[in-house]
Amino acid sequence: MTQGELIRFDHVTKRFGENTVLDSLDFRVFPGKHVTLIGPSGSGKTTILRLLMTLLKPDEGTITVGGEYLNHEKKNGRLVPASEKHIREVRKNIGMVFQQFNLFPNMKVLRNVTEAPVQVLGLSRDEADERARELLELVGLGDRCDAYPSQLSGGQQQRVAIARALAMRPKVLLLDEVTSALDPELVQGVLDLLRDIAHTTDVTMLCVTHEMGFARDVSDCVMMFDQGKVIEFGHPDKMFSDPENERTKEFLSAVL
Ligand code: ADP
Repeated sequence: MTQGELIRFDHVTKRFGENTVLDSLDFRVFPGKHVTLIGPSGSGKTTILRLLMTLLKPDEGTITVGGEYLNHEKKNGRLVPASEKHIREVRKNIGMVFQQFNLFPNMKVLRNVTEAPVQVLGLSRDEADERARELLELVGLGDRCDAYPSQLSGGQQQRVAIARALAMRPKVLLLDEVTSALDPELVQGVLDLLRDIAHTTDVTMLCVTHEMGFARDVSDCVMMFDQGKVIEFGHPDKMFSDPENERTKEFLSAVL
């Protein structure tokens, strides 16, 4: 294994029935890098994030995060399916923000952000509160700790979801079309926040987005998917101005 890589997919195949959604996929992401996944709807981008969140399991191949297998464990030199405990441990490194925010509706904003650090990381309520208040300040909602999600705009709810993901101090932040459910006037604020996080923290980002301006600003690498394979990857300056693959050209000319 190359030293330092944070995420590694080796020959990962994922099928839903007859539909091969990811086809022997290989890629690596190094710490602190920001990688954007682009490609037509149905090309397998979200499936990659869901595999990393262990919401799905690969049919073939292996995924490692921080050098640890995600769905496997080594026992007596052999790879065997991982225990729930092992999966929980590796997953602590990964946070995800969803399109639909997925906040706990019956909990106030502060509690939304403190719940996982208390339950999963074992932080005391005081420690978790302090961390949550700092993060809510960072996302511009320091004064809304006592609100319920339903009392916030979509953009504010998404900021809470970002604070909630960061409260776990993940090494990897997965962003799945996080602005696509927002009213247009709220999109820029959330993208600006994510741009700040990308530029001021060392969190590694894997991002599925249709916001190509954002992808260009924050990405170290853009990966273009088509039918479960990466058909082109590279720095956004090159990919967006001079793509090589015909499918990438078609896709980008439709979205840029
Ligand atoms: P993208 O994010 O690129 O739009 P997805 O990863 O969401 O693509 O989906 C890839 C393919 O997998 C699509 O054809 C989709 O219909 C299929 N798919 C995704 N999730 C499921 C599921 N739970 N059951 C069956 N098919 C699924």
